[in-house]
Amino acid sequence: MELMTKPDIRDFTRQELAGSMIAMGEKGSRIDRIFNFLHRKGAESFDAMPGVQEEFRSKLAAKYTIAPFPAVEKRVSGIDRTIKLLFTFPDGAKAESVVLFNKETASACLSSQAGCACGCTFCATGALGFKRDLKPSEILAQFAACRREAGGTLDSVVFMGMGEPFLNWANVKKSVLILSDNKGYNFPQSKITVSTVGIVPVIRDLADSHLGIRLAVSLITADEAQRAELTPMAKKYSLREIIGAARYYGDRTKKAVLFEYIVFDGLNDSPADAQKLLALIKDLHGKVNLIMYNPTPGAAALKPGNLEKAKAMQKILVEAGIRTHLRRERGADIAAACGQLAAGA
Ligand code: SF4
Repeated sequence: MELMTKPDIRDFTRQELAGSMIAMGEKGSRIDRIFNFLHRKGAESFDAMPGVQEEFRSKLAAKYTIAPFPAVEKRVSGIDRTIKLLFTFPDGAKAESVVLFNKETASACLSSQAGCACGCTFCATGALGFKRDLKPSEILAQFAACRREAGGTLDSVVFMGMGEPFLNWANVKKSVLILSDNKGYNFPQSKITVSTVGIVPVIRDLADSHLGIRLAVSLITADEAQRAELTPMAKKYSLREIIGAARYYGDRTKKAVLFEYIVFDGLNDSPADAQKLLALIKDLHGKVNLIMYNPTPGAAALKPGNLEKAKAMQKILVEAGIRTHLRRERGADIAAACGQLAAGA
């Protein structure tokens, strides 16, 4: 019973643990070695830390636990090399991650929540509803598994899987700090992108922080009324407020914002729609990802993006000086593409 109440030591940053060490009458720096065992060597118990004094390990074990690694099921796309991993955590909560390969590089798309409360009508995760936030250790477990699947190296990480990362910002931020810690995974913050549907206060918070991660904003579409049909979050934060926060982020960090626009056939893919998007972002330091909508059960009225129309939109944006990437669909045969993650449902 007592074991259940102890926090997982991997949910804490090195600085937090150093503070805890001092409170235990130890030197804060003693945690460096432990951090290394936990995050670099994947130690799954305090006993698996050779060379660390038993008395110190017992002290740690009295205060913290190391939860078992989640069960992982793997599916591999027959179309491309995309890998989808389904994690089942000890309490039964589930989340998915995706490993995407691009010529010589590999990236991981991680989940921040089990399910999602945002309820976007085009998204399989949204249809599941919200189960719970993922803890830093659960986000890190996804990273470690994805890295293994990628052959030991990942070139980038995106928080674009299940959940809205800015509604679990405290835990996502901690996972970023642990990932980038040179005694932890030592993964550069500049290679981490967090994607939000537009949680304005957290965009501003990120802009004011010292984190070096990149921001992606899922505009979905550039028309306010249409956006309200596609995501309930539009009622909370307007496009005007979201663009204002993105501008603030760009001004503060001097980093480009990645705007994600989902192309639905016949809905938001005309030249006039491209102009509407242009009007919204043209004086911002940003670039655009046009993402072809992937069919999800429960959203029959929405049609998959039309490639020719998307290319025409791309041309308009590029000619106006906006870097625009047309994102290829990946892992659609294993429901690993954008908006398709449904935790095995
Ligand atoms: S698109 Fe993102 S924010 Fe919207 S329901 Fe899906 S996971 Fe949540």
